[in-house]
Amino acid sequence: MPLNLRPDFYVLSLDEIPILKLKEKGIRGLIIDLDNTLTNWNCHNIEPCVYKWLMDLNKLGFKTCIVSNNGAKRIEATLVGLNVPFVANALKPRKRGFLKAMELMDCQVENTAIIGDQLFTDILGGKRVGITTILVAPRSKKEFFGTKFTRLIERMVLSKMNKK
Ligand SMILES: [Mg+2]
Repeated sequence: MPLNLRPDFYVLSLDEIPILKLKEKGIRGLIIDLDNTLTNWNCHNIEPCVYKWLMDLNKLGFKTCIVSNNGAKRIEATLVGLNVPFVANALKPRKRGFLKAMELMDCQVENTAIIGDQLFTDILGGKRVGITTILVAPRSKKEFFGTKFTRLIERMVLSKMNKK
């Protein structure tokens, strides 16, 4: 594999993200993926526990920005009532969406992290930009067909990592 895809943190749920450790590390801005990270796949609602988790991040002084490959309408419908900026049609793992989010949060490479459920979009994109990367297990198993294939490869990569 040409690029090291090992995330800086790998957790099973949003609650397990070591928020205080990130704060100590100097992280101020969090780029967050939408589908299967904040919502279940193709579900337009954010569950109350996730909503609270997002609000708590802001209370702790983090800036947040959603970066999604989805279109603006879909993202807006999901984020209703949440005062969180977003970048739509981000084409992750391209760098553009990540850089735009950092600009919106007024953050730089050294104080930004990406939280997402996919190695080949969220983590790879984050690595390309040079920010801290946090892989979180997907919230839902009901996924778009194409994603299932990617998952298979992700599992292979992760199992290799765990053996190291
Ligand atoms: Mg996702």
